[in-house]
Formats: sequence, C-alpha cells, structure tokens
Amino acid sequence: MERLSLLSEDQVRAVQRQFGTPTFAYDQKALESQAQKALAFPNAHGLTVRYAVKACPAAGVIRILNRAGLHIDASSGYEALRAMRAGVPAAQIQLTAQQLPDNLADLVRQGVLFNACSLHQLAAYGRLFPGREVSVRVNPGLGSGHSNRTNTGGPSSSFGIWHEHLDQVLTTAAEHNLQLTGLHSHIGSGSDPEVWQHCARLTLGVAAKLPEVRRVNMGGGFKIGRMADEVSTDLCEAGQPVADEFNRFAREHGRKLHLEIEPGTFLVGNAGAIVCSVVDVVDTGQQGYSFIKVDSGMTEVLRPSMYGAQHPIVVVPATPEQRGQGEYLIAGHCCESGDILTPASGNPEELAPRVLTEPRIGDAVFIGGSGAYCAGMAAKNYNSFPEACEVLLGTDGEFHLLRQRQTLDQVLANESLPAFLSA
Ligand SMILES: *Cc1c(COP(=O)(O)O)cnc(C)c1O
Repeated sequence: MERLSLLSEDQVRAVQRQFGTPTFAYDQKALESQAQKALAFPNAHGLTVRYAVKACPAAGVIRILNRAGLHIDASSGYEALRAMRAGVPAAQIQLTAQQLPDNLADLVRQGVLFNACSLHQLAAYGRLFPGREVSVRVNPGLGSGHSNRTNTGGPSSSFGIWHEHLDQVLTTAAEHNLQLTGLHSHIGSGSDPEVWQHCARLTLGVAAKLPEVRRVNMGGGFKIGRMADEVSTDLCEAGQPVADEFNRFAREHGRKLHLEIEPGTFLVGNAGAIVCSVVDVVDTGQQGYSFIKVDSGMTEVLRPSMYGAQHPIVVVPATPEQRGQGEYLIAGHCCESGDILTPASGNPEELAPRVLTEPRIGDAVFIGGSGAYCAGMAAKNYNSFPEACEVLLGTDGEFHLLRQRQTLDQVLANESLPAFLSA
C-alpha cells in the first residue's frame, strides 16, 4: 500500500473541495528544499544552476525557483519569453532549442544567452551576431536516459552537434568571428556517479579542443524516486567525480571552468501531485480486473501511457474512515484504451494492478510524483476536457491558485467557421 507523502489526507480533501478536480498541487517548501540541494552540487570553480522550465512552466513555480537563486534553461523561444514574463531577467535565461525561434535576434538583444544545438543554428547566430560569445551543445557520443524516448545522447539522439564534427564547429565559428566560450552536453545522465564522471570526461575532452571555453554545462537528468522502492539521486555523490574532473582539467590545461547544471525533474518531480476524484468503479468479471475510473488521466499525466512510468497512487475516502483493500487498475477519463495510470513498470502495453483502498464514487485520488512533465506535457484538451487547475501549498500552510481551470469558451477561443459553413 502506498502512503501519502506531499499532502495529508485532509489537505487532499481540502484541494478537492476548494478547487474541484483534477487539480495540480505544488509544495513551496519541497521546491525550495530541492533548489537548495541543487545549489549545493559539488563544483571546483563556481556553479550556476538552471531550472529546465519545460518540466513545469507555471509562473509561480518559476518565480519560487528563481528567487531561490536558480537561472533558467529554456527549450524554445516561447519558454524564454514565458520565463521573462514570470519575472526572470533575460540574462539569467539560456536558450537550448531543437527549433530556432523566429525571434532569436530579439531575445538575444534583450540578453538571453544562446546555446547552438546544430551547425545550422551556429551559422544562423553567427550571421545575426558576428563577433559575439556563444555556447555550443555537443552530443559527446554517450547516452543514458531511462528509455529510448528520453535518451538525449549517443548516435540515436538528434540533440546537439555530434562530437566528431568539431572541426566544422571551429570553421563556422571562425567564419563569423564567434567566441566559443560555452560548452553544453545534456545526455540525461541519471543517478550513477560513474556515468556523470564518464560524461564529464568526454565533455572536458571537447573543452580541451575549444581554448576559449570558460563555462561547461552538464545538463540535467538527475533521477528521482517517485515510488517508495525507488531512490533519488544523491547530488553530492553524482557531483563529486564531476568536480574532480574539473580540478584535473584545471591542472592540465590551466583553465578554471565554471560549472552549470540544469535539472528539471529533480527540482519539481516530487514537489507536485494531482488530486482527482473517483468517477466510477467497474469490473470485467471473475477472470478480469477491477477498475477505478478517475476524472484525470492523459489530460494531466502522459508519463504512464508513454513510458510505463510509475506514480504513487492513494485513494483518499471522502470522509475519514477505515476501509478494506483490493487490487485495482486506475483508468483515466479519456476515450483511449491506453489511458491507464497503472501500467507495468517500463511497459505501457502491460497492466499492473495495485493494492489500493476500496474506492467509492466521489473519493479523492492522489497521484504523486506529478510535478515534472505533467501539467506542461499533457494531452491538453483531448476529449475537450479543459486544462486542469494548478495550486500552490505555500509555506503559510494555505493553498493559493496558480492557474484556474479552463472554461469551454477558452478551449474553443481560437476556432472560427468559414462563411460557407456559418449560415
Ligand atoms: C529537459 C532538459 C533538461 C532537464 O532534464 P531533466 O531530466 O528534467 O532533469 C536539462 N537540459 C536540457 C537541455 C533539457 O532539454
């Protein structure tokens, strides 16, 4: 049986009552404490921590982490603008994007830092801003995501400039007088200190060939344990070998490199939960399964159906009472058979019933570990369900609204009918 972590049963019921469901609840204290842990990442010659805002782009969350001292990693031009609207100074934002934004020149003029992720991007930046400093993202040839779908390094990943193309990087930079002062590699290194050390070595091997590099960004990808039997990355353990490599680099090359890391999941993953409600309970007979249907699912959390990701789930009775337990699958509210919140670990095709409190219609259901890649990465408006509400549990003990639930009018706001259909 899973237990509640982030919120108490009373707080889950309070969210359900006060805001309706489904609602995302984030915890200010948890966000601030993760930020402090990230800022304590071992380093040899200084550290900047960037929050990868795509993990959870709510302005309230961005502001809490920025006030705690974190800068921003933006994965699109829109994310950079969004962070600025949340109050982050442009100079604290670095853009690392698959797609070059149309407003790149404008963003850079406002102070946003640019990290070129391909030779095309580097040349485009060089044409706009010859003579300037720039950072480049390399694919050091090593990958370590938790699945093929999250792997961001190695030959099967399109992220960054392949490490064997360094000559072309130097040629392109020289053509536009660019100074290659930043180097970046985000391979999603996970929690294994040996992988971090290996990646640091490969990246510093590239830095050795780029004599102007002063700033090396090792990306994010620190794993967290959502379920009780999973462990979260110990940043001191992961970071120490990286700091050792930076020290060794300074001894060998006489350059003291500034370290950057850019966690997303680590900062927000366990600082957020979904509070939803039981809308139905059905079964498929003796040889079948019992299903709890909830008013959430792919519209708020895609990770189970996409990766077979595991989230802790707790049924919270509408009023406190003792109940029995049973084995249940949790089905989301989308008309899509893949909308299951209890797949087998790492295999979205397979079902894995869980032991849960016997549900009644109207009970609340808590889905933990939903702070990262949920509100920002859901199947928004599928079945015309409105975007969920987001609230923050402040250090004052109160829930504060961060984003209200969409209305149907907002879902439809940009539609129009051509004249020949409107009569
Ligand atoms: C998504 C992303 C991150 C954050 O990854 P997490 O796994 O959430 O820590 C960091 N850097 C870049 C460039 C990213 O695209």
